[in-house]
Amino acid sequence: MTDTEPSTAKKRAPRAKQTAPTVLEVRNPGTGRIVGTVPIQSADEVAATVRELRLYQPEWEAIGPDGRKEWLLKLQDWLIDNTEHLADVLQSETSKPRADALIDPAFGTDLIGYYARRAAKFLADDHPSPHSPLARVKKLTVAYRPYPVVGVITPWNFPLAMPIMDVIPALAAGAAVLLKPSEVTPLSALELARGWAEIGAPPVLAVATGAGETGAAVVANADYIQFTGSTATGRRIAAACVERMVPYSLELGGKDPAIVLADADIDRAAHGIAFGGMFNAGQVCISVERVYVEAPVYDEFVAKLTENVKALRQGIDERELKHDVGALANENQVRIVQRHVDEAVAAGARVLTGGKATGQGTFFEPTVLVDVNHDMSCVAEETFGPTLPVMKVADEAEAIRLANDSIYGLSASVWTGDKERGERIARQLNAGAVNINDVFANLFSYALPMGGWGLSGVGARWGGAEGVRKYCRKQAITKPMLPTQQKELFWYPYQVPKLLTALGAMRAAGARGLRRIDIPALLKLKGDDK
Ligand code: ADP
Repeated sequence: MTDTEPSTAKKRAPRAKQTAPTVLEVRNPGTGRIVGTVPIQSADEVAATVRELRLYQPEWEAIGPDGRKEWLLKLQDWLIDNTEHLADVLQSETSKPRADALIDPAFGTDLIGYYARRAAKFLADDHPSPHSPLARVKKLTVAYRPYPVVGVITPWNFPLAMPIMDVIPALAAGAAVLLKPSEVTPLSALELARGWAEIGAPPVLAVATGAGETGAAVVANADYIQFTGSTATGRRIAAACVERMVPYSLELGGKDPAIVLADADIDRAAHGIAFGGMFNAGQVCISVERVYVEAPVYDEFVAKLTENVKALRQGIDERELKHDVGALANENQVRIVQRHVDEAVAAGARVLTGGKATGQGTFFEPTVLVDVNHDMSCVAEETFGPTLPVMKVADEAEAIRLANDSIYGLSASVWTGDKERGERIARQLNAGAVNINDVFANLFSYALPMGGWGLSGVGARWGGAEGVRKYCRKQAITKPMLPTQQKELFWYPYQVPKLLTALGAMRAAGARGLRRIDIPALLKLKGDDK
């Protein structure tokens, strides 16, 4: 629903005292205005939706990747044709700057193109070489067969792009998808489902709106769970999946380090890290959240970074591009960011710019902190807000040691004039992705896997073929290459000559040296039929 429709929540307010609420109000965090209401779907409703998806999925699988490509490319056209409207909806529920709101549909267009066009190649049967001459009598096939219903549970930071990231590869794989968007930003996800229906695509994509309980119902019914969100919720979901024996992939929290070496282009590093820390008001899983700078360039870097961050324009955009940084998603985020800043300052940190909420909506000033250390929450915990704590390090070794001193390991960046050195350092960092002289580059490379190490996740999204194959069960098929006999050598009844041939051949194929032809050992076999 959009804000042009009447809010049903108000009318139901008196009832809400006795019974659990049946709708969620969606608010623009910059203005506080209610912009829509969505139903809270019950566990029974979610189960019914999954049952319905199961009915349509076999046909979706049967039309194959080329049939599915047609629908995915129609959705891509729809995204392009509706970009302005989608950005409006997205801004209404996030208060993002217009530029940020336009990223989601553009990103979706790019990603759909990649997976729609390549899925046929990625899902083509594999025919592995037999491991031994004995196995050459069979043609070996690995077929990729989708999990019937994939549950995709998403957070609020990219209300359209996050669903698209995982829904599209799952649909391309031939699965039906039940999407559970964040209760904070469900409107863009509903638009995606509207687009799918509007192009007349088969009903294999549904959205379940609601909060944690609705998400738990998705986990209780789907055949595979793709989750992005907090580590605490990810842990609960993993436990529930283990109980049901269904596979899952989790992208969780992060505390991404940036390492700036003395040989770096300091201007580029200061611009890149300002963007990497402040983009989407710092609410990106792979935001730069802590910076380590080699001592000789520390003062210069801090001065340039502070200047760049101070220059950021913050406020509410309509359709014009006026601002760089928008609001935080909700009041809870403001409290977390303020606590991290306040605790740091109380322990001796200095705020070089920013440091407080602006007083309008949930806007928080882009903030640079120095004189910080690993005992402070702003360095140790995920902030998910517009703060950049900067630390001075003696050398590369100290930077690597401190960068690795975290429970998280999502991504990192290294800034250096020597790209080979950058790569050597990358290989010593405990992170699922490392960008050299850049931020977020891995996020726009669907050929690469995006996954977290440590408490940042389990599994990965994308990674070329893996991005669709993860939504498939591998099926091994053997087919005779030669005319078949009435019985195979090893079938009943066991007889010594046949066993000698079968076991001897296995030994000959697998062992080495004289052991390959250790006939005496085989001759110890005795039987009635000698
Ligand atoms: P955040 O709001 O900080 O991103 P969450 O990790 O709690 O944090 O939320 C991410 C998504 O997970 C949301 O869509 C939320 O509704 C959903 N969710 C929350 N709790 C559960 C749960 N127990 N099971 C499944 N999904 C959940």
